[in-house]
Amino acid sequence: MEKDNPFFRTSNRIQVVVTHGGGAYHNTLKALESIPLEAARGKRVLLKPNAGRLGKPGEGVTTHPEVVAAAIDAFRSAGADVAVGESPITGVKTMEAFETTGIAEQARKRNCPIIDMDVRPCVEIDIPDGRAIQKLKLCSEVMEFDYIVSIPVMKMHMHTDVTLAVKNMKGCLWRRSKVQLHMLPPIEGSDEKPLNVAIADLASVLRPHLAIIDGTVGMEGLGPTAGPPKVLGCIVVSADAFSADAVACRLMGTSAEDVPYLRMGAERGFGVIDIEKIDISPDNWQDWCVEFARPPQNLTIEYPNVAVLDNNSCSACQSTMLMFLKEFGNRLFDYLPEEEKLYFAIGKGHTELPEKTLCVGNCTGKFKNTHMFVPGCPPVASEILKKLIGKTSLDSK
Ligand code: SF4
Repeated sequence: MEKDNPFFRTSNRIQVVVTHGGGAYHNTLKALESIPLEAARGKRVLLKPNAGRLGKPGEGVTTHPEVVAAAIDAFRSAGADVAVGESPITGVKTMEAFETTGIAEQARKRNCPIIDMDVRPCVEIDIPDGRAIQKLKLCSEVMEFDYIVSIPVMKMHMHTDVTLAVKNMKGCLWRRSKVQLHMLPPIEGSDEKPLNVAIADLASVLRPHLAIIDGTVGMEGLGPTAGPPKVLGCIVVSADAFSADAVACRLMGTSAEDVPYLRMGAERGFGVIDIEKIDISPDNWQDWCVEFARPPQNLTIEYPNVAVLDNNSCSACQSTMLMFLKEFGNRLFDYLPEEEKLYFAIGKGHTELPEKTLCVGNCTGKFKNTHMFVPGCPPVASEILKKLIGKTSLDSK
């Protein structure tokens, strides 16, 4: 148990509280009653929701605004100086994301500052025990606030199995340095995905003081953006982000032991994921478990006329392709000849490609004189569409 985290109750066991059934705002306030928030009196508290993409409330992409609203109110009532901050994924503007998620409106109503954490210069830190990464560029606010609260939305994730409170801290990495975690080389002597090892490395130096996991509407299947929303109606709160994640995993019908970065982080002593070692209340919390569909292993089943030729790409390009297919895949053939299979190539490992392949991302740039090519690192889904049909959106039906 972490001695410098005032939100742990004095007990030998980690505590996690789950609330359900009262709506996002009420559930959050109720769960926070279990936390000694008075420790935040006079302190600066940074709320870090998942507002890294353009997601509307109820879509399961970003944190529900009422959860953030309740966290602002609870910390304010405890006498804290509260702000909400985010550094979104590449290509998304922070303030636009805050507006789209509805978080900006809630913050404005409360006169609570919202911070674009990409504006100021970064702070570089060492990761002394880093196995995949030895240095990180962090948003400077992370070093300046007394306490950080991770407020993710409960989602399945195609590259990391789930994304919850531990992984949400990746949004504290400065600007494009987030993408670099998706481009790491294999780790010698390890079969683990470098991205998973890097998230565990990140947790060695940056863990939130409090986790508030928004399970109001999560995302199953092709998370973090392309899956269907999943209604759960739960909030999970704990001072141990690993324990909160472990309980959230169970609520989603999976297990933290099967999530490599959580397993590795727990083995390295960054938190507790063994459910038997956690005090979870109320006793009937498992009544609220809802099975989330896992991310599909094979996209060609979903899009039979499309083949994605992936040779040594990183997950950023894979995400772009998934977003592209999710957004446009079902209607592409309204614009293109249906009998022809569509080939896309991503990754730097290709030596030859079918004649009409569309090469996506700078790693395929060596084919730009012989094939259609969409530059970018990562590339942008709408640019792929533009290359195919000459415009960046489909006509509305
Ligand atoms: S072009 Fe794509 S695969 Fe290559 S490094 Fe960039 S994002 Fe990764």
